[in-house]
Amino acid sequence: MKRSRSVKILATLGPASSDRDVIEELVRAGADVFRVNMSHASHDVMRETVAKIREVEKSVRYPIGILADLQGPKLRVGKFADGSVTLAADETFTFDTSDTPGDKSRVYLPHPEIFASVKTGDRLLLDDGKLQLKVSAHSDEAINCTVIYGGKLSDRKGVSLPDTMLAVGALTDKDREDLKAVLDADVDWVAMSFVQRPEDIIEVRKLVQGRAGVMAKIEKPQAIDQLEDIIKLSDAIMIARGDLGVEMPLETVPGLQKRMIRMCRRQGKPVVVATQMLESMITAPVPTRAEVSDVSIAVFEGADAIMLSAESASGSYPVESVATMNKIAVAVEQDANYQGIIRAQATQPEATAADAISAATRQVAETLDLAAIVTYTSSGSTGIRASRERPAKPIIALSPKLSTVRRLSVVWGLHCVQTEDAISLDDMVDRACAIAYIEGLARPGDRVAITAGVPLGTPGATNMLRIAFVGQDGAGGS
Ligand code: PGA
Ligand code: MN
Repeated sequence: MKRSRSVKILATLGPASSDRDVIEELVRAGADVFRVNMSHASHDVMRETVAKIREVEKSVRYPIGILADLQGPKLRVGKFADGSVTLAADETFTFDTSDTPGDKSRVYLPHPEIFASVKTGDRLLLDDGKLQLKVSAHSDEAINCTVIYGGKLSDRKGVSLPDTMLAVGALTDKDREDLKAVLDADVDWVAMSFVQRPEDIIEVRKLVQGRAGVMAKIEKPQAIDQLEDIIKLSDAIMIARGDLGVEMPLETVPGLQKRMIRMCRRQGKPVVVATQMLESMITAPVPTRAEVSDVSIAVFEGADAIMLSAESASGSYPVESVATMNKIAVAVEQDANYQGIIRAQATQPEATAADAISAATRQVAETLDLAAIVTYTSSGSTGIRASRERPAKPIIALSPKLSTVRRLSVVWGLHCVQTEDAISLDDMVDRACAIAYIEGLARPGDRVAITAGVPLGTPGATNMLRIAFVGQDGAGGS
């Protein structure tokens, strides 16, 4: 299977897309990576979903990435005697530690860590920010608030505390159990929600032990304060605009999105733009013009992947949503301004052999108008450095490891193929040319640029650039 775009599409699976055949349709329509949301999926559903994706992967013969998204410390209020109450501005309202049904004056808040960390003047945002309260006094048992923006508050609605650094670990007990289950199911990526500090990533990495890539979801203002370090410690970033737009002023989200994409491109870390990209397609077969524009902005900026949430998980048009995203991405990447905008954000190679070779390879491939860049990458790191250059030519990433090609499926511009390590320089050239030909990325007479590490098969030793002709029936030659 061959894509005609470099940006990748990540689609969340759910009740609207749990069928094996629908999953295959989504792949054929353009989905490169699937997200399983552990906020909703039981372990059994997660395992069944992984098995279905792996079946589809065999049938389309193209590596598919699986991202398991851990719920993280999502905070919720308790329940009300009547299911809900309505709060009005300037009234007082109390959150307490008593596990009894709430009323117009109080509700149970089942998170002791909030009582320990909150300060007078901090804001509590309820139900995706629809209600806003300010702390007027607090103790170990009660947080007294004044209502700023009122509204209806019902059972188990979410609570956000944008001004409070919570003394909670990165993972809840549920997250720990989910993490164990998803690693046992062999997923390729694990996403961590509500990351606050670099230490959160260190804690998760210790548990993951390299069995999956670690993706940090940026959705807390506390994380924005330490972005560089969080990106450095993570394998990838998700710009989680849903919760980010609750915890930060909404109008700052577009600027933050640009900043994060640029920071990630500079560091060479895959970056996913998520949430509400085609929101109206949950109920309609066509998106709004504003949504099309939003998707295009992420593609023009050079994000690695764009994500669908409810559109593909629980909407009425999951396949149409992926197909629409695909069409927008293809159109943007063919737009006359695209290359110039992408190049304008290019950053200098770091002083490593892999970066120097990647930069030289991009230049050679573009100057000589080569058909493709073929890069041998065992761990995937050279593949990511090749992508960091954002070349105008397709990149074929070859790795002997299935886990590597699956993990790289989220990375901009990489067409991933599993193949054994080359046994000689001739074999390296032959194999690269044959794969470029078979995958439909080069024709006989075309030339490709090949990068590898010599001695062959040594991870982290990319030090060679070779130009080769694709011969008749795909055989390699110089
Ligand atoms: P969620 O994350 O869908 O798990 O909330 C994405 C976001 O907050 O944007
Ligand atoms: Mn979120």
